[in-house]
Amino acid sequence: MELTFLGTSSGVPTKLRNVSGLALRKQASKFWYLVDCGEGTQHQLLNTNLSLKHLRAICITHVHGDHCYGLPGLLATTAMSGRTEPMTIIAPKGIKEFISAVIKTTDIHLSYELNFVAVEELDSPMEFEEFDINQVELSHRVPSFGYTFVERNISKKLDTDKLDSLGVPRGPLWGKLQTGESIVLDEGKELKAEDCYLENKAPRKVIICGDNDTPDLIMEESTNASLVVHEATYTKKIAEKVGPGPQHSCAKTVAEFAESSKLKNLILTHFSARYQPDRDKPDSIFDIENEARQNYSGNLFIANDLDVYQLDKQGYVKRLHTKDREAYK
Ligand SMILES: [Zn+2]
Ligand SMILES: [Zn+2]
Repeated sequence: MELTFLGTSSGVPTKLRNVSGLALRKQASKFWYLVDCGEGTQHQLLNTNLSLKHLRAICITHVHGDHCYGLPGLLATTAMSGRTEPMTIIAPKGIKEFISAVIKTTDIHLSYELNFVAVEELDSPMEFEEFDINQVELSHRVPSFGYTFVERNISKKLDTDKLDSLGVPRGPLWGKLQTGESIVLDEGKELKAEDCYLENKAPRKVIICGDNDTPDLIMEESTNASLVVHEATYTKKIAEKVGPGPQHSCAKTVAEFAESSKLKNLILTHFSARYQPDRDKPDSIFDIENEARQNYSGNLFIANDLDVYQLDKQGYVKRLHTKDREAYK
């Protein structure tokens, strides 16, 4: 699986960080999924090899502008690319009203159908070619959601040592197990296909969260997740200054959640514009990173715009590519 960060700033864009947008795709697939679409997301896409023609679905976490103001422009551009395939948008109900109003008032003619799915009503996973997508409720000033992506159609590898030790002869019986069929052994015992695959072929799950002040809300969902992408808008010190009320998470809260849930990989994003790339500035992005590292011992990344991350088959995340690394000294 591959994740490309299209925007990592909260609220407003900065010279180095655009507002929220994240592309997800299965390794080597040209089809992809977009989570959030802040203003300028389509410009960010120009720096990637992702094509609007192959965008399977758009998931919007909540109605705040830094997560959805880019949607009308992106949909209009998609029409100009000649797309005719319908586009699924999973989003809070307000987003449908927002898009319908823009289409009506600005005379947009889409060349494809929009299929809106209200995230509030999504109570079982929605099946796509590459992933099953479901939602998890978060806590923010407005209703906010996280999206879980569980991979589908993974190639299942047979545990050949196990089959040999059970005396299952190579040939048609192995073929049956490979296609998911159970078989009956000579002694009349049934052997289920799912008991014959190698462990690490379990489908991987990624959780991509919208704005959220209570990371523990995804504790249960994250028990079998390989990776969580979560906002860390502030450090604890600044979060306390900003004041109480349902809003955002600080690096410490997210890190503590990740540590207690034994999460393997955590990527932080959605940083307040006050955090500078320079290590010596009073509010530095490194303050967020340090606070998170002090409270989480797993594999941690601080996302930058246009970073590409790969989740490998063993469930380990690595950063493949980062742009403007020089800016972060
Ligand atoms: Zn936001
Ligand atoms: Zn928000």
